[in-house]
Amino acid sequence: MSIPEDILKDHGIRSTDTRSKVIKYILRKKTACSLKELQQALAISSRQEKPINLTTFYRTINLFEQKGIVHRIDDGTGTVKFAILKPGSIDKKWHLHFHCKKCNNTFCLPETMPINLLSIGGDYHIIRVNLVLHGICEKCNGNYRNEKKHI
Ligand SMILES: [Zn+2]
Ligand SMILES: [Zn+2]
Repeated sequence: MSIPEDILKDHGIRSTDTRSKVIKYILRKKTACSLKELQQALAISSRQEKPINLTTFYRTINLFEQKGIVHRIDDGTGTVKFAILKPGSIDKKWHLHFHCKKCNNTFCLPETMPINLLSIGGDYHIIRVNLVLHGICEKCNGNYRNEKKHI
């Protein structure tokens, strides 16, 4: 189990209230989340305290991205989303994403990208791959099958 403070420390970042709240939320979520969603979730969680400062919030996300804690996903929906990869899991750079057109969620797929995919491009040097598969996710697909069973 990776705790927010450890992740921050591992990346040489000082822990602050906003930083650990952002990490906690992203870690708990199984799907990638947009800035708007994050901002709303944080606003709700800190209702009793002082409201979140938007500049701090954007700086936090930028810092996390720079340090490689979160990565951005352009899933073709027009909204940039962010996700976190648990330490020790699949290679940060070389994995695919999946966007479900039913629940509109975007996930990091647990499989590493097929190696022959990276050899495409010949002499081009690939720095990052943004490949999103679109379809129906496991969960939505399962619900659909269960619904069919009961007919
Ligand atoms: Zn789905
Ligand atoms: Zn990802």
